[in-house]
Amino acid sequence: MSVNIEQLARANVRALTPYQSARRLGGNGDVWLNANEYPLPVPFELSQQTLNRYPECQPKQVIERYAAYAGLQPDQVLASRGADEGIELLMRAFCEPGQDAVLFCPPTYGMYSVSAETLGIEYRTVEALPDWQLNLPAIADKLDGVKLVYICSPNNPTGNLVNPDDIRTLLEMTAGKALLVADEAYIEFCPEATLAGWLQTYPHLVVLRTLSKAFALAGLRCGFTLANPPVIELLLKVIAPYPLPTPVADVAAQALSEQGIALMRQHVAELNANRAWLAAQLAQCACVQQVFPSETNYLLARFTDSPAVFKALWDQGIILRDQNKNPGLAGCLRISMGTRDECERLIAALQALPVEQA
Ligand SMILES: *Cc1c(COP(=O)(O)O)cnc(C)c1O
Repeated sequence: MSVNIEQLARANVRALTPYQSARRLGGNGDVWLNANEYPLPVPFELSQQTLNRYPECQPKQVIERYAAYAGLQPDQVLASRGADEGIELLMRAFCEPGQDAVLFCPPTYGMYSVSAETLGIEYRTVEALPDWQLNLPAIADKLDGVKLVYICSPNNPTGNLVNPDDIRTLLEMTAGKALLVADEAYIEFCPEATLAGWLQTYPHLVVLRTLSKAFALAGLRCGFTLANPPVIELLLKVIAPYPLPTPVADVAAQALSEQGIALMRQHVAELNANRAWLAAQLAQCACVQQVFPSETNYLLARFTDSPAVFKALWDQGIILRDQNKNPGLAGCLRISMGTRDECERLIAALQALPVEQA
């Protein structure tokens, strides 16, 4: 029987380009610097042996520990399958397909558009200024019908923080019309910049967090949405009944123990030191035009011939993330912080490139 399954699918899904995750892009690397993961595994042991039972929808210990870590109350915290699920739950709860829109500011994280496209929700973009800060007048012009504004700070892939005064202005602009969603996936690398404390002032502020980056648990799939109780209650209406498997909650609770948080902070200090070293080394490489400042566990750099550099490193098993096609990022590659040894291998490989690529 020959049946065209494709034509049965929703039009927006047929048109969809799936998120180009680092894993999907493949490669045979042994130095993975392309997904902003922590470079080494952190060991855990499972303590729960109750897999015959369904898990709690919102595991109490995980929620309480994350709330304490973030300086909030438990009713201001929602746990989900990564921050990515938080991005999508907000659209499902707040955006009417074909009517409401979301807005974000490229170059930025790719899942805002993927989630909107999957759900059939219009998305609008306002390119960031040359210094990657918000173009507030242009945003103001496009806010009609927008329900969610996603601001990534520190921003992926550029590494910069968004000016807090601009975020405050945007919060005043959106009050009563839209939620402002601050994606803080990398906030552990610059904890003093968090907007979590602003939740008491702004009922329409939402903060996204994850265990995937500084907590070294990308494979766990656990993230958090921080907001005031009316927002959290709406999200609880649309979340799956059992979003967090029992082993996930088990490991997440351990990662959020006092020792778990202390270990994370030690890792952050090491990675921040590696970043300072790598930035200084990159700036000395003939093939590097510019290294951008970063508040995260990655560096963005502009190369004289980024496709050649990307390919030469790929062939040696060193996998970076190509940003060449992102608006404003021609010639740019994003480099996740590896171990010091991996950073040294990268620099050695760049220094050994033939002159025509440098
Ligand atoms: C990695 C990342 C996420 C997704 O985190 P998960 O918890 O792994 O889903 C969200 N936002 C940004 C900006 C990221 O870089």
